[in-house]
Amino acid sequence: MVSSKLSGKVQTVLGPIGPDDLGVTMTHEHLMIDFRCVFLEPQEASKKGLAYAPISMENLGWIRYNWRSNLDNLTLFDEETAITEASRYVRAGGRAMVDATSIGIGRDPVALARIARATGLHVVMGASYYVGSTHPPDMDQRTVEQLADEVVRDITEGVDDTGIRSGIIGEIGCSWPWTDNERKAVRAGGIAQQHTGAPLLIHPGRHEAAPMEIIAELRKTGADISRTIICHIERTIYDWNKLVEVAGAGCYLEYDLFGHESSHYPFAPTDMPSDAQRMDQIAWLIGQGFVENILLAHDVCTKHRLARYGGHGFDHILNNIVPRLRQRGVTEEQVHTMLVENPKRVLTFK
Ligand SMILES: [Zn+2]
Repeated sequence: MVSSKLSGKVQTVLGPIGPDDLGVTMTHEHLMIDFRCVFLEPQEASKKGLAYAPISMENLGWIRYNWRSNLDNLTLFDEETAITEASRYVRAGGRAMVDATSIGIGRDPVALARIARATGLHVVMGASYYVGSTHPPDMDQRTVEQLADEVVRDITEGVDDTGIRSGIIGEIGCSWPWTDNERKAVRAGGIAQQHTGAPLLIHPGRHEAAPMEIIAELRKTGADISRTIICHIERTIYDWNKLVEVAGAGCYLEYDLFGHESSHYPFAPTDMPSDAQRMDQIAWLIGQGFVENILLAHDVCTKHRLARYGGHGFDHILNNIVPRLRQRGVTEEQVHTMLVENPKRVLTFK
């Protein structure tokens, strides 16, 4: 057990810090990412032109609606842009951010450390694997134990030879229906959590039954559900009673798609809720007694959501959403719980 060393600390890319140093935290963002795994190539010739063009004012309207279908939009490769965007968040009062980029979608420990130094932001780096389409070619042959060892190593020793350590296990990607290898990665995450005391961050398949299926699988491994975050809850569960079931399991419900204001969801058949609908659900869940289970973020993973490209930026929740939550009757203390206390609780190693 190595948990003794990290126990009671939050592990950032610049080393462990005390939980009280964390402050306002977004628990799911991507400062750097290669998200081309979701590229959806249009069939029509004219749209292929749009798909392969660099993002510009001329095509931004099309890209905002068809954001999976422009390759340039799906890459956040520029560190200077990341620093500028992250600095906006810091100026708005942000202190910490989980970079949920996992293996296969461009996880970049050294760049994250440079961004953290340049901005003063506490950056917590992810571990494990995203959805099956991004897995390495030999994933079929890898065992749960091997995958768990790899996660433990990233947390205790660091990624490759960088010495930079992960502070959260995820985002682990799951599809619907679940693939065997994705299930293996989730089980490995549960085992690695017990060895390290790290929190789990899980991207569920797009189906209302997915979160409870993941929780059931995690329970078999002995994972701590109270230290598990279910991502993208607003595009996963549309039946509010099911929200209560998932929150009642003791996990965190992460409303991490703030800033998406187009109901057209390129991963149809479901619609993307608006910020107003997210806030309605959050206010309702608070009324049901679940304020300590809610986390907020933007899950920025494309250019069109950055301020530089006409998007809302990492400061949207702090600048725009917090005042609107207050207008809906959410108290200052409840906002503090969701933005500071809940991230602190879940990110602190057991
Ligand atoms: Zn994400």
